[in-house]
Amino acid sequence: MSVLSSIGAVHVRAPGKINVYLGVGGRHDDGYHALATVFQAVSLYEDVIARPASDFSITVSGLDDPDSVPLDDRNLAMRAAKLLAAAADYDGGVALEIRKSVPVAGGMGGGSADAAAALVACDALWGTGFSQTRLHELAARLGADVPFALHGGTAVGTGRGDQLNPALARGRFDWVLVTSEEGLSTPLVYERLDVLREQEGAFADDPPLSLDVPVPVLQALRSGDAEELAGSLFNDLQAAAVDVRPDLDETIRLGVSSGALQGIVSGSGPTVALLCADPEGAQQVQAALRDRGLESLHVHGPVPGARIIS
Ligand code: ATP
Repeated sequence: MSVLSSIGAVHVRAPGKINVYLGVGGRHDDGYHALATVFQAVSLYEDVIARPASDFSITVSGLDDPDSVPLDDRNLAMRAAKLLAAAADYDGGVALEIRKSVPVAGGMGGGSADAAAALVACDALWGTGFSQTRLHELAARLGADVPFALHGGTAVGTGRGDQLNPALARGRFDWVLVTSEEGLSTPLVYERLDVLREQEGAFADDPPLSLDVPVPVLQALRSGDAEELAGSLFNDLQAAAVDVRPDLDETIRLGVSSGALQGIVSGSGPTVALLCADPEGAQQVQAALRDRGLESLHVHGPVPGARIIS
């Protein structure tokens, strides 16, 4: 198919995520760990603008370190565009502009959000007209977190985190995010978890290859009660992330002593997510962190997944 687009540009916005629950099981033969997680999309967004072009190119703005994101086929958004083109038999290209707000290698799925946004933007630009199910299939081939960035809201992820089921979440949850200048490599954190588990003899047998999200986590989301959710926040990767970056534990303690209901490392870190009772509580925590020299962001969730803005 070769569709000459009459559209000038498509602007898509996709959210970053927090894992409010992240259980990690054993490692499958393909190297991926079994996961049971609950994602929540939060109001920190990546903007991707797709413009017609005869070949594929990418620009990225909003980076502290311009070398932190590749501009070639290693870029998840580029891979998403090429995957969609191949699936749709489209023989043109696209010029992608990415405006980043989600910290790079921050454990908030920024690259996955870019990939989801690129799929939606190119689908509209090229007039591909793929169904949500088809886009979801392509998303899952790009990475475990990409289907969720398409989907948004609050969802349970099992398998490698890519088998998604929506979770009912009432109301709004306020989060204060403490980001780090330096990112953490996701594979490194998983490796550290394996080492720690081995050292501690964490499992009598091999860790399980199939996991579930505990019912109280889902109940807390359904109730919309931040205090209840605070009691259920959990991340199996946290000990590993803190082992690499002990200061993350101090940030969580500082957040809680400043009024946050609870804190957690987001995904593989190093972003720390502090759950607060309400917007005023979040502002109070931000002020206390600022007094200690820590900058932070106030976001809320759940918010929708990748959406066309214009
Ligand atoms: P994960 O989904 O693994 O938790 P993360 O949120 O911790 O990821 P990302 O910002 O998505 O981290 O990026 C992780 C690495 O992927 C980066 O170090 C970068 O080199 C590479 N990468 C590829 N494409 C992108 C992209 N579009 N944006 C950011 N990083 C990208």
